[in-house]
Amino acid sequence: MSAEMMTPEALKGLIRTVPDFPEPGIQFRDITTLIRHSEGMAASVHHLAELARAAGAHKIAGMEARGFIFGAAVAVALGIGFVPVRKPGKLPIKTIGVDYALEYGTDRLEMDPGAVAAGENVVIVDDLIATGGTAAAATQLLRLAGATAKHALFVIDLPDLGGADKLREAGVDVASLMQFEGA
Ligand code: AMP
Repeated sequence: MSAEMMTPEALKGLIRTVPDFPEPGIQFRDITTLIRHSEGMAASVHHLAELARAAGAHKIAGMEARGFIFGAAVAVALGIGFVPVRKPGKLPIKTIGVDYALEYGTDRLEMDPGAVAAGENVVIVDDLIATGGTAAAATQLLRLAGATAKHALFVIDLPDLGGADKLREAGVDVASLMQFEGA
């Protein structure tokens, strides 16, 4: 690691918190102020890549849309492939999908069933884990495709929302660069 590499604690200072977005009571943790900062972006990818390397990643999977930003960069840093986990109707081939519950209604994630090999160690990368619904669905989807999905990495964890604990109960090792209290 280079001497000037920003620490996770310093990276936390680059996150912009926007109160009451997209609805009252939500503290939106905005990563755009982190990724436009050249050293902040480089250090975020570096720290995530070190965690993915330690996890023995064969491939990285990232969830649309902000998981693409970090996940693809981590894959390049490690010289491994990237698998996009997409919102419905985006992929041009026959997909497999998993529906999951949101606070109001449901959502769905889809992927190419041929994107991973049986037993391949695919590490999930996303910007933030809140309730864990998105990451749990991505885990389920990767496992459906035959991958081993037992590591998930996030820039930000909101531990009070319990998502990381939920993922751990599903047999996933969870790590994050920083945590924020509250919702
Ligand atoms: P969840 O499925 O509840 O873990 O939500 C995870 C997804 O929702 C992440 O990919 C985030 O992009 C987004 N998200 C949820 N809560 C927040 C928040 N407070 N600030 C920014 N993004 C959030």
